[in-house]
Order: sequence, then C-alpha cells, then structure tokens
Amino acid sequence: MNYRRINIFFLSAGVSLLISCTTARKNSISKKFAANPVVAHRGAFKKNGFPENSVASLKEAIRLKCTGSEFDVRMTADDSLIINHDPNFNKLEIEKTTYAELSQYKLPNGEKLPTLREYLLAGIAGNKLTRLVLEIKPSGLGKERGKLIAARSVALVKELNAAPMTVYISFDYDILKKVMEADPGASTQYLNGERSPEQLKADGIAGADYHFSVFKKNPGWIEEAKKYKLILNAWTVNDTEAMDWLLKSGFDFITTNEPELLLKKTASSAK
Ligand code: MG
Repeated sequence: MNYRRINIFFLSAGVSLLISCTTARKNSISKKFAANPVVAHRGAFKKNGFPENSVASLKEAIRLKCTGSEFDVRMTADDSLIINHDPNFNKLEIEKTTYAELSQYKLPNGEKLPTLREYLLAGIAGNKLTRLVLEIKPSGLGKERGKLIAARSVALVKELNAAPMTVYISFDYDILKKVMEADPGASTQYLNGERSPEQLKADGIAGADYHFSVFKKNPGWIEEAKKYKLILNAWTVNDTEAMDWLLKSGFDFITTNEPELLLKKTASSAK
C-alpha cells in the first residue's frame, strides 16, 4: 500500500476542508441566522426610546429576530474597548479619557457605558439568529491606533467564542485588512463607498456595505457584487421607497433605524 499517497490524499482533503470552512464564514449568509435582511442600526433603539448602542437596544434587536444588530466600537485612553457612536461621551473625548472617568456617566436609560466585552456577552447569551455587526471606528489618534483597536476587538471576539456570530464593518480599509490578518476567516464589509466590488473581491473583503445613494449612483455595482458573490448591504435606510428598491434589487442586508417597519415589509412580501 502506498502510505505516502494516502497521506497526501488526507492532507489535501484537510486543506480543502479548511478552505471551504473559511470561505463559508467569510460570506456568512448562512441559513442558521434569521432569514430576513434586517440589520438594526445601533440596535433596535428608536421605537422603544432606548439609547442607541445600549444593551437594551441590542436585546430588542435579538428579541425581534433581526438578522443583525449593529454597534460602534471605540477605545478609551487606557485601552478599554467600549460601545459608543460619537467620539465624545458626555462631552468627554473618549480617546483621551479613561474608562473610569467616562463610566461615571450613565446612558439615558440608566445603563452603564457598555464595554465591548459586556456587549458581546449580552449579544451571544441565548442568541442564535442575530449576527453581531461590529463597526470599528477609525482612531483620531492615527492609523496605528485604529489597527490596534481592530486587533484587540478580534482577540476579544475570539476569546468569547463569538466569531461565528460576528461581522466586522469599517470606513477604514486598513482596519478591515487588520481584522483579516488577525482572523483570516472573518467576515468583513467596507462602508466608505468609493471602491468597486471588483476591488473588494481582490482584497478578500466579503461585502459592500455602502450608503444606499452609492448604489443609486452606481447601479452596475449591484450586479458586479452578485457576480463576485459579495454580500450586498446598504445603510441607513429608513424610508419605505428606498427599502422597496433595495429589496427588489436583491440586497442581502439593509441597515435601518426602523427594523420593525422593514421586518413587517419583508414578512408581508414573503407571503
Ligand atoms: Mg455604526
């Protein structure tokens, strides 16, 4: 029996399996998540008056069975990863303030300023259907710090075994490249809108998550993205006309402040 041949066979089978698993996670339009295109922008905050990016808004998106819930990650002066959209929290510049100082102030619903660890733990608890759409904000203190935020975010996602649930998005291309360096199987989507699907594909980015006006201006990019099997996502879509156009155009995900409206729309169109 030719053992060398058998070994080569098993080795190549293993490599193919590894490649196919990596590809599956990169383009994670998996059946195991909720079968709707609704990504709640900063959680499902609006209808119930929850603060944006609060644990309450994340839990509401999960309760609604949105396919994704988006949130923004920044890093404090003492390297704590926290969830907040703006560069300031209660008039304090996040990147120049410690977590202890920032967390003296609560969110309007009484929640403490969530750390990424707390947010991910809340996001994976009892949740099988809603992706965690993690936006890494570029750092105002330079490119290198932005990449550090990316590397530390990926390390924490891995530590908490949240990688299969997580999609990374950013306006900064180098941040996404850093994410893929730290986790080659990570699913990434680019937000800034100036790169063609062909460019994204060439760089291993899994999806185009652009403002919907970008796709209106470049309608050819929709077919191009489909041709390259990229994920198509648009933000931030709050009116019914744009929702209808994106649904008709076959978008995988639509990021919205009105998840209840879009869920209702997709449920009725599925009948
Ligand atoms: Mg965001």
